[in-house]
Amino acid sequence: MENVTVAFADYHRVNNAEQTLNRMRARLQNGFAVFAATAGYKYGRVPGLNGKVLVRQEPQASILVEALEGYASGCFDSQAVVADFLNAHPLYPKPKTGVIPHQRIADILRNPIYAGYVEAPQWGIARRKGHHEGLISLATFERIQDRLAGLGRTAYRTDLNVDFPLRGFVHCDDCGGFLTACWSTSSGKEKKRHPYYQCPKKGCASYGKAIRRSVIEGEFEALLRHAQPQPQLFAVASAMFRDLWDRRQANVKNESKTLTAALAKIDEQMEQTVERIVRVERARRGSRARSEGRET
Ligand SMILES: [Zn+2]
Repeated sequence: MENVTVAFADYHRVNNAEQTLNRMRARLQNGFAVFAATAGYKYGRVPGLNGKVLVRQEPQASILVEALEGYASGCFDSQAVVADFLNAHPLYPKPKTGVIPHQRIADILRNPIYAGYVEAPQWGIARRKGHHEGLISLATFERIQDRLAGLGRTAYRTDLNVDFPLRGFVHCDDCGGFLTACWSTSSGKEKKRHPYYQCPKKGCASYGKAIRRSVIEGEFEALLRHAQPQPQLFAVASAMFRDLWDRRQANVKNESKTLTAALAKIDEQMEQTVERIVRVERARRGSRARSEGRET
């Protein structure tokens, strides 16, 4: 009889676990996040949707948007800079150690949840549009993945030098590749060195055709002088900066409000602690006086 009971309970336990797993799998297949909420999200109810879905958790969500978009745009040029940004932000929650581990930053940058997608490769469920609101667009998410893979870096080179400032910026008109630059020594007696730009691609019609530095840089200067922004563009750009600036200011105001509230709470706790110390001190003195009085 005992054996039967145990076997029955065991069967139910295994069966329940399996059913839960099946339910989670089905829910995920339908675009609902089912795993523990990641930073910037919590589970909550949304009108029109069954069960609990991920919703933004502020202020983390807005801070993460700034971090993710900063990395995507190249403004934060490495994961370490993203980590610094989050670690230095007073409103971003930190683990007990006080420092967010680098692995967590990498996980955040790679998590499609932030673009509004769900997936579970371990269950064979491919990425699909989720029912929750993403913090960033899919394009931003993909730019982040490209940057993580080392693609799409800006044309910055460590051998950038004052001799050839246009290297890495000027394309060949025939093949579209970047021009290289070099000093070549003339064959004359004086062995003078001349600066040139040229296309390095073999087979290109312009291969080896050197362009004097003074020519190309002179033309570039003339081009720059023509490239004046239109007044409308200027107006739009100023409006955008003003908008960003206002938003940043609103954020700072919010931060200082939260910090002031935290400060008031700390003050209160300090007062309570001092009061408690005074009370204990008084009680101790009182009992000492009483015991001394008894002795005399
Ligand atoms: Zn070429």
